[in-house]
Amino acid sequence: MSDEGHYVECCEHGKQQATYVCQHIVQSLRDGRPRGFWSSVESPENPRPDSWCSACEDVVNRVGEWNDESEAFAGVKLLCGACYDKAKQMNLVNRKRWWQLWK
Ligand SMILES: [Zn+2]
Ligand SMILES: [Zn+2]
Repeated sequence: MSDEGHYVECCEHGKQQATYVCQHIVQSLRDGRPRGFWSSVESPENPRPDSWCSACEDVVNRVGEWNDESEAFAGVKLLCGACYDKAKQMNLVNRKRWWQLWK
């Protein structure tokens, strides 16, 4: 059984979908520095899958999976859906440059 999902009350955006991201992405919202944005597969039920930054992606690649070590590094935090969108947009600016490299 899955209902509408969980909600979170954001002091900026009010009641929003609850999303989960690594602590560094939360940090990037605070200091405005893009850190990359990686997500698990999007699904129609959840357009805002759990996401993490490039540093976390490196750790996951090194240890091979999400385990105690990589999860401890990520320090996953709860984020409201609107903050999530903002973080995604901001961090994808960084990735755009990567795409341009391949053009
Ligand atoms: Zn991270
Ligand atoms: Zn918010």
